[in-house]
Amino acid sequence: MQVLNKLLINGSWVDSVNGKTIDIINPHDNSLITKVAEATEGDVDLAVDAAKSAFPEWAAKTGSERGLLLLKLADKIEECAEELAQLESLDTGHPIRDTRNLDVKRTALCFRYFGGMADKLEGATIPVDEGFLNFTTREPIGVIGQIVPWNFPLMFTSWKMAPALAAGNTIVIKPSEITPLSTLRIAEMMLEVGFPAGVVNVVVGYGHTAGSRLSEHEDVGKIAFTGSTATGQRIVQASAGNLKKVQLELGGKGANIIFEDADINQVVGGSAWAIFHNQGQACIAGSRIIIHESIAEEFCEKFVALAKSICIGDPSDPKTEMGPLTSRLHQQRVLEYCVIAKEEGATILCGGKEPSTPSLVDGFYVEPTIVLAKYTDRVCQEEVFGPFVSITTFKNDDEALEIANSTQYGLGAGLWTKDIGRAHYFAREMHAGMVWVNCYKRVHPASPFGGVGRSGYGREMGFEVMREYTQVKSVWINVDANIPPFYKR
Ligand code: NAD
Repeated sequence: MQVLNKLLINGSWVDSVNGKTIDIINPHDNSLITKVAEATEGDVDLAVDAAKSAFPEWAAKTGSERGLLLLKLADKIEECAEELAQLESLDTGHPIRDTRNLDVKRTALCFRYFGGMADKLEGATIPVDEGFLNFTTREPIGVIGQIVPWNFPLMFTSWKMAPALAAGNTIVIKPSEITPLSTLRIAEMMLEVGFPAGVVNVVVGYGHTAGSRLSEHEDVGKIAFTGSTATGQRIVQASAGNLKKVQLELGGKGANIIFEDADINQVVGGSAWAIFHNQGQACIAGSRIIIHESIAEEFCEKFVALAKSICIGDPSDPKTEMGPLTSRLHQQRVLEYCVIAKEEGATILCGGKEPSTPSLVDGFYVEPTIVLAKYTDRVCQEEVFGPFVSITTFKNDDEALEIANSTQYGLGAGLWTKDIGRAHYFAREMHAGMVWVNCYKRVHPASPFGGVGRSGYGREMGFEVMREYTQVKSVWINVDANIPPFYKR
């Protein structure tokens, strides 16, 4: 397995200007994996210059030329699937069975989807006044700054890079300072399959230095950000200087409503997937279960039994279903919410602590945690972003909707019912960018992904994201020689 530790600027692997490095830690046992060059403001400036110089030639390529490189990259990712799965698992703590079956496959799928999209960007012909032809074209923006978090670094690299490149933009991407390894490897593969120097640049660095510089940079035309709401707000402020476009995929507090007519066994498994996959470190996690009071007792019994049976352990073991959280800091944050829950009077049905297994004590593990809480409690309003789920009961549909829509977030939401009319009503009324009915957390490169409210704006994936990475030009042509100009003499 290759572990890269430099910055990629203008097609070359370089140390940072000031020679500093960042320790990359294995979340399973707190050991050092490697030290990666730390980009600060000067490195970001160099990367933006490289992306700016590479832009005209990249934008001038045909869509099919750009698409072909993305398709080759997707093939390369599949060839190196096992290596990427192991690298992602090592760096993030995701169980290897998930990185093999989900992260790597979805990454290849995403690059392939947008490889296919690259030559299908069409404008419109618009009926306007007689004697004129009006049509639109979609043009790339220029240099795109992309800032991603640590929870799905490999997958998010594809979500960010693939559409931006397909549309003809060049990129400076800043992976999280905690999990940069898979992004660096993908960038290396891009060089291997023939992406020109400077089209993609990778600057690993902290948010307050590298991230902040990228967000304010005059030569960056757009920032695409995935991360917390607080950082998203800072990025909007930093973007004001040159009025760059901003796209924000922010936090979530997913409502997962279970109605009395739902299939209880399907719901127990589905709700566990909704929250415990990736140790709950998912913006779209179903972190608030809102359940009809008549079935709450039976559900809780089965749900707690399932949570207690989840195999927690070394992410490199194929039997492992839940690995460690990705950093020590984040583990401490999640454990703090367990204390807050108790202080607010919530009942902890299981978990709330680190596992006591001797082989896991150095890692950043937290047991699957289920609490019974009031929907106004902090743990039902704030994003915990861990294997932590609250359960609240409701008496009728109006109350369920009120609870579901009670947070400042609006990203993903789910509901379980056999009543099709009720499903449509709730899908319409829920304050969310995505709604899943009798399933949870489905994603696909063809389906728009994003939120409302404090969960951000703009959409990733599908054709929607091509709008985000292009700007529209409207062209008017006078096609009737007899139309008099206003000042005819
Ligand atoms: P974070 O906001 O702390 O960091 C995200 C990225 O922003 C990192 O690369 C970080 O270095 C950078 N950053 C930090 N401060 C910055 C600044 N001032 N200027 C520019 N960049 C800065 O978030 P996190 O803790 O890494 O990730 C978890 C958060 O991400 C959660 O809130 C989660 O819900 C959210 N998230 C959202 C989505 C989505 O699609 N909506 C997906 C995954 C994660």
